[in-house]
Amino acid sequence: MLGYLLARVGVDVVVLEKHADFFRDFRGDTIHPSTLALLGQLGLRDEFLELPHSEVGTLDFVVNGVRVHAVDFGRLPAPNDFLTFMPQWDFLTFLAGKAAEFPSFRLLMSTAATGVRRAGAAVTGVTATDAEGELEIVARLTVAADGRGSTVRAATGLEPREFGVGIDVLWFELPNPPVPAPSTLAYIGLDALVLTIDRRDHIQAGSVIPKGRFAEVQAGGLDAFRESLATTAKPLRPVVDTLTDWDQVKLLSVQIARLETWHRPGLLCIGDAAHAMSPAFGVGVNYAIQDAVATANRLAEPLLGDGVSERDLAAIERRRLPPVRAMQALQLRLHEVIGRPHPAPLLANPPTSAQRAALNLLVPVVQAVAPRLIGRGFRPETISEVVVGSQ
Ligand SMILES: Cc1cc2nc3c(=O)[nH]c(=O)nc-3n(C[C@H](O)[C@H](O)[C@H](O)COP(=O)(O)OP(=O)(O)OC[C@H]3O[C@@H](n4cnc5c(N)ncnc54)[C@H](O)[C@@H]3O)c2cc1C
Repeated sequence: MLGYLLARVGVDVVVLEKHADFFRDFRGDTIHPSTLALLGQLGLRDEFLELPHSEVGTLDFVVNGVRVHAVDFGRLPAPNDFLTFMPQWDFLTFLAGKAAEFPSFRLLMSTAATGVRRAGAAVTGVTATDAEGELEIVARLTVAADGRGSTVRAATGLEPREFGVGIDVLWFELPNPPVPAPSTLAYIGLDALVLTIDRRDHIQAGSVIPKGRFAEVQAGGLDAFRESLATTAKPLRPVVDTLTDWDQVKLLSVQIARLETWHRPGLLCIGDAAHAMSPAFGVGVNYAIQDAVATANRLAEPLLGDGVSERDLAAIERRRLPPVRAMQALQLRLHEVIGRPHPAPLLANPPTSAQRAALNLLVPVVQAVAPRLIGRGFRPETISEVVVGSQ
């Protein structure tokens, strides 16, 4: 996204992608209302929405069989009043195609950054490898957007602070059940939490487990795993038998981490390279995109002019660190709640009169706050006139 935005104003951009394509399964596939609004600003929204995707207007939770309508994106101003699920590789391929229309954009696939070039304390580009061997790319600014295990970040000695997260997620695909279930983000049972994402022709399902316990879950056997899924997420019972091999189940280690300093002379870290987000609320992609927008807004002119100063880089960090901190604090809080064993049901079924009273109080508050908090995030960015108006 940053490559697209900078190339749009005419900055020479080289993007390196170590893989030959953008295909990665079970990645963040949510495009939130804030990102839809940005695509709208760029005049790309309609074309983007022509790609295969699903749209979700509400996020429901089922707690011990009791359905809670927690998030209604319909409360956000139209037209960006829904959440989009689109395979990340389709979104990235779309963006890369759009960026390729600008003569100053170059995307080098199958090219992995291996380290940084330096002149004294300043970073002046990257070293990399491709099919032909080693190469160097000289740059006035290097942006580490290479994810939570960032090679470029490591080469500069920047070390993220890790926040302990007590859960992992097991992701797998299930066919749609014969009787379609109402769209539900999570089923929370006595001893299991099952996520379900409607992917139109199938369900992407996730099972939240205590961190590092996948081997234990496997040792318990597939029968027990399937039964736990079907007990917690009842509509899945007719299809859990399609899980016949642990190879169908992918372990994703959940992490929350962040740099307190995002830059060095000539270098800026953004996205997961600056702050690994947990999948909670599905906001990682959108926070990475917000970083890209804040960066383009601040740097488009200096990159076309006299060059980027340390003050520019510090200003981006100052702008983006507070919303990242706030969202990660929320994610950590959520992990504490869902990572805790629940010997007693969170909610009786049917709820007791005290629980019903608490729900009547809490749900309207959550419904009022959540669409903005999740759909737009803390401090949503708008693309500056300089960047938008350049076409
Ligand atoms: C289990 C799980 C589920 C998630 N679900 C969601 C969700 O539903 N919604 C959401 O918004 N977020 C979700 N996230 C978070 C989201 O995936 C990330 O926050 C987001 O992808 C960060 O984007 P990024 O561009 O910074 O990094 P990445 O998406 O990690 O992209 C980095 C890119 O750099 C490439 N790369 C890496 N190293 C090099 C190198 N040395 N040289 C060249 N290229 C390199 C990689 O191949 C990759 O394409 C989830 C995360 C996890 C772990």
